[in-house]
Amino acid sequence: MSTIQLVNPADETPLEEVALTSAPETDAAIARAAAAHASWRRMAPADRARLLRRFADAVDADVEHLASLEVRNSGHTLTNARWEAGHVRDVLEYYAAAPERLFGRQIPVAGGVDVTFQEPLGVVGVIVPWNFPMPIAVWGFAPALAAGNCVVLKPAEITPLTAMRLASLAREAGLPEDVFQVLPGKGSVVGQRFVEHPLVRKVSFTGSTEVGKQVMAGCAAQVKRVTLELGGKSANIVFADADLEKAAAAAPGGVFDNAGQDCCARSRILVERSAFDRFMELLEPAVTGFRVGDPASADTEMGPLISGEHRAKVASYVPSDAPVAFRGSAPEGPGFWFPPTVVTPSRADDPLLREEVFGPVVAVVPFDDEDDAVRIANDSEYGLSGSIWTRDVGRAFRVSRGVEAGNLSVNSHSSVRYATPFGGFKQSGLGRELGPDALASFTETKNVFLATEER
Ligand code: NAD
Repeated sequence: MSTIQLVNPADETPLEEVALTSAPETDAAIARAAAAHASWRRMAPADRARLLRRFADAVDADVEHLASLEVRNSGHTLTNARWEAGHVRDVLEYYAAAPERLFGRQIPVAGGVDVTFQEPLGVVGVIVPWNFPMPIAVWGFAPALAAGNCVVLKPAEITPLTAMRLASLAREAGLPEDVFQVLPGKGSVVGQRFVEHPLVRKVSFTGSTEVGKQVMAGCAAQVKRVTLELGGKSANIVFADADLEKAAAAAPGGVFDNAGQDCCARSRILVERSAFDRFMELLEPAVTGFRVGDPASADTEMGPLISGEHRAKVASYVPSDAPVAFRGSAPEGPGFWFPPTVVTPSRADDPLLREEVFGPVVAVVPFDDEDDAVRIANDSEYGLSGSIWTRDVGRAFRVSRGVEAGNLSVNSHSSVRYATPFGGFKQSGLGRELGPDALASFTETKNVFLATEER
């Protein structure tokens, strides 16, 4: 049996060794999920709702434990990890209302009654990356389960602990066996079986754009449903009329949160030329004062990167001749540390402006006017999120409508609320998660016509 040795990214100490699921084991789990689906889909809506609420309660009682697992396994700050565990509870509670509200429609037609049903798909495969193990897992499994599907979920190889704990909590809360299974393992093995196995009727994938394209191509062979949440290179647009103090104070949080390993990281800051120097003056103390250190400490704002391999990739974007304006601090010694780094590239084709670094590196560039800001923001193959800082309400909406991205915030850096849709334009993804409409992508619409005309 092959295993993976997990490592605490903050100090490089070994954690648990976790067994990797093989391809035959994956197939067996998918078969069990398909068998469990027969009764799960027929369970009374109120009973399915009650089980999801109990699952949410079990998560609520376990928030501190789940958070401590994420701090150790992923190096997330304690504050973030607590929020993430609480978010799992909230998303479960939100979708627990769905089984009893999965309405179809009655459509007026001649000669009978026409109604639609939102039918579950069957087995749904959820593939999760390492950067937000808990939130991204629940965005897939909560609406999928609520809509009457069974779920097989593959966490990232190196961050399986919270997903495994969530599977135990689901069982303790009374979810029937095999309705929600977590299969730690490799993408090329477990993830690949989700794509290939005909009984998996949908794949919900979050990860890199490169792997997402392969998943989409693989799913095409069976016209398998697919949702993709992929990379980003989001713009934080700061106009001269904004509250510059506030915009500069908030900018580090908008990109260095989770050490920049965030698909929504505002890794490009676009500043109106007339305010550029003042903004940089204000940004420097905000960056140097960003508290980087032990993730288990309650006042830490940024922890380590996930692995040595990933740190080497991030570092490759900042060679010794990189246009570094200033940097924050990071601990010395063991752990995969990288300091918050601000760069000012001068060429539009600089990889620092085009590629997803996925680390605490932010590029700041000037723009001339509103049109120029929108042009630069859209000069990317990605389109996930972004922010606009201005006191002009009309401009806030004009620019929001102009930027090609799925999740924008004005005078803040918020991207994720469980009640609102989340997803990307262009190569940042396909489909939307969260919010009232996510259920639609875990169901098929069935139309039934019943003749009432007398013969
Ligand atoms: P990744 O693409 O390397 O892996 C993501 C998941 O896919 C992992 O579980 C991996 O094991 C699995 N996988 C790998 N190869 C596979 C294959 N051939 N078939 C099926 N599954 C396979 O991504 P990562 O490095 O874990 O995560 C970082 C990326 O995720 C970044 O690009 C980030 O922007 C993106 N991300 C996007 C969102 C979003 O909502 N848009 C959220 C978080 C992360």
